[in-house]
Amino acid sequence: MANLKLSHIYKVYDNGHKAVNDFSIDIADREFIVFVGPSGCGKSTTLRMIAGLETITAGDLFIGDTLVNDMEPKDRDIAMVFQSYALYPHMSVYENMAFGLRNRKMPEAEIKERVMKAAKMLDIVDYLDRKPKQMSGGQRQRVALGRALVRDPKVFLLDEPLSNLDAKLRATMRAEITALHKSLNTTFIYVTHDQVEAMTMGTRIVVMKLGYVQQIDTPMNLYNSPYNKFVAGFIGTPQMNFFDATLKRNNDKVTVAFSNGDSIDVPYEAVSKIDKNYLDGEKPVTFGIRPEHIDINKDGEGLKFIVTGVERLGNETIIYGKLGDHLGEFTMKDEGNAIVVKLVDRDDLAVGDVVYAQPKQNKLHFFDAETEITLIHKIPLYNTVAAQIGADTLVALGSQTALPEAIGKAISKKDKIELAIPPQAIVKGNDFRLRVARIEKTDGKNLAYLQDGENYLFAIADDDVSEGDDYGFSLLYDKITVKAGGETIVEPIGDEVSLEGRFSKKEARENGERVLHFYYDIGKYSIEAEKENGYKINSIDKDHCYVYTYRYAVDRDKIRTVSAGEDGLDVTVIERLDYKNVCFAKVRTEDGQEFLIKTDKNSTDSILRIAFDGADVSVYSTRIDMKLC
Ligand code: ADP
Repeated sequence: MANLKLSHIYKVYDNGHKAVNDFSIDIADREFIVFVGPSGCGKSTTLRMIAGLETITAGDLFIGDTLVNDMEPKDRDIAMVFQSYALYPHMSVYENMAFGLRNRKMPEAEIKERVMKAAKMLDIVDYLDRKPKQMSGGQRQRVALGRALVRDPKVFLLDEPLSNLDAKLRATMRAEITALHKSLNTTFIYVTHDQVEAMTMGTRIVVMKLGYVQQIDTPMNLYNSPYNKFVAGFIGTPQMNFFDATLKRNNDKVTVAFSNGDSIDVPYEAVSKIDKNYLDGEKPVTFGIRPEHIDINKDGEGLKFIVTGVERLGNETIIYGKLGDHLGEFTMKDEGNAIVVKLVDRDDLAVGDVVYAQPKQNKLHFFDAETEITLIHKIPLYNTVAAQIGADTLVALGSQTALPEAIGKAISKKDKIELAIPPQAIVKGNDFRLRVARIEKTDGKNLAYLQDGENYLFAIADDDVSEGDDYGFSLLYDKITVKAGGETIVEPIGDEVSLEGRFSKKEARENGERVLHFYYDIGKYSIEAEKENGYKINSIDKDHCYVYTYRYAVDRDKIRTVSAGEDGLDVTVIERLDYKNVCFAKVRTEDGQEFLIKTDKNSTDSILRIAFDGADVSVYSTRIDMKLC
C-alpha cells in the first residue's frame, strides 16, 4: 500500500535517445494506473524506472514519502510481473513462488503460508508441483502473478502481462487482475498497448505518445473529452471518424462545412466554447465523431456517403463508407473520405446504398487542424474580444475604460485591436459590467458565461455569483494577448523569468570537515544552490556541469530589489511598462540579458540590484529540453 509521485521525470538513454519527457503524476494509494500508447512511446521505460531497473536521468520519484531515485530495486518494496512470465523452468510452481522469499531468509513456515494463500487466490493450488512447461500460458501468468503476490509489495508493476495470451483468455485474465486489485487494496501500475485493457482496468489512464504524456484521466473522461486528436483516435473502437472542415456561425446555428461540399448545422449552444476566430467559415478545423454517435437516414439530411462494407456482429452492425455517392476506384486507405458507423439493432443497409450521416449533436469533437488540440476545453483557454482604441481609451465589452499605457505604447496608430483574454484574467472590479447568462460548475470552478452581445465571455467567478447577476469586472492586462490584423503585438507576461548562467562549486573546510557549496552564476552574481540540487546537476552532467550553460528560471514574484551593499545582480532599467493592474521594469544585465521585473508605479531608479534565493530557482539544460531540478 503506497502512493507514488513522479515529478518531472526524464529518461535519456546513453545513445542520446530521449525516451521519456517531463512525466509527472501523483498516484494515490490503491489506484489502478494504466500507461497506454503505441509501441516505443516510453511506457516500459517509465515502469522500469519506477521498478529501479533503469536509472532516472532527471526528476524525482517518490514511493510513499521516500525519494527512491537511487534506491536498489530490491529495497523499493515493489513487485513486477513481466509479459514473458520469467519463471525458472527447472523449478516447480511452488518453488518459483517461494524463491524470492527464501532469498530473503523468510522462515519456511511463513513461506508456505504465503504461497498457499496466493495459490488459493489465483486458483493454482492443484498445480503447485508442476513445472512451468507443463502449464498453459494463462496458468503460467498466474504463477508469475503469484510470485509477485507472495511478497506482499506496496506497489505492483505489470508490464504487458497478458499480451502472450489468446483473446479469450486475455478477457478472462483482465477481469481476474481487476478483481485481484480490488481484493488486495494495493497500488497497481499496468503497462499495455491495448486500449481495451486500459479502458476496462484502469481507474486512471496515462496516454503516451513518442515519450510525451498526452493526457491523464479517468477512462470516461478520456472517451468523452479527449485533449487532442491522438487521444481521441487512440481510445475507442472502431476509431473516431475525422474530417477536414470549416465552421461558420450564423446567429444561433453553426454550419460545419466539409471539404466535399456537404454541410451540417449544429446549435451554437453546443459549440459556444469554441473561440469565435474558428467560426469564420475559413479557418481549417478537424471534425471528429465516434462511429457509435452517428445516426443514418435515407432522406438527404447530413453527410452523404456510399456504403462500401457491412459487418454484422449480431447485436451491432459496423458500416464502412466513403463520402460522396459513387464507389470509384478501390483503395485500402481513403483517409479523409472514409466513414465508419456503428449501428445497434439496425440491419437494413447494404453495399452500394447511398445514405446520410447525422452526427449526434452533443457528441461532436473539434480539433485545431494544425496543433490537433481540442477546441472545446471545459474552461476555455481564452476569449477573443474586439476593441476600439482612442487616444487614452479602450472601448470593449460595452464599456469605455482607460487604456493601459503599456498597451497604448505598443499599438501606436492602430485603432482596432483584438484581445485574447484568459478567463483567469477576468477579476472582480469596476471597469466592465455584463450580465451572467449562465453558471457552470466545472473542474471545481464556477465558470460564468457573461453575455457580451451575441457572444459569451467566459470568466471564473466566485461561488456567490449566479445566473442573472450583473457582474462587474476588470482585466489583468498583463495576462492578455493583444493582436491587430492577425498579428500579435503584445504577448502576455508569464510568471517566470529565465536567465542564462553557469554552475560552479567551492570547497570549504567547516569544523574540520570538507564541505561542498554549489552556485548558480549569472554574470558576477552567485546564488548558492540547495545542496541536493547541486549534487543532482553534478550527477546528470558529470564534470561538464562546470562548463555548460544553464537556464535558471525563477518566479517573477520571488525577485526582490536589494540595496547596493547586498549581494545581487546589477541591472539597468531600459523601459517602464504600466499595465494598470501591475507595473514592470524592463531591465538589462551587464551581459545583455533582458527581462521584466515587477516594480512600484512611482519608482524612477535607472540602476537596480536584484536578488533571489537558490531555493526558488528551477534549472533547465540548454542542450536538450529538460528540467534538471
Ligand atoms: P514502449 O514500452 O512504450 O513500447 P519503451 O519504453 O520500451 O517503449 O521505449 C521507448 C523508446 O526508447 C523507444 O524508442 C525505444 O527504442 C527506446 N529505447 C528503449 N530502450 C533503450 C535502450 N536501452 N537504449 C536506447 N534506446 C532505448
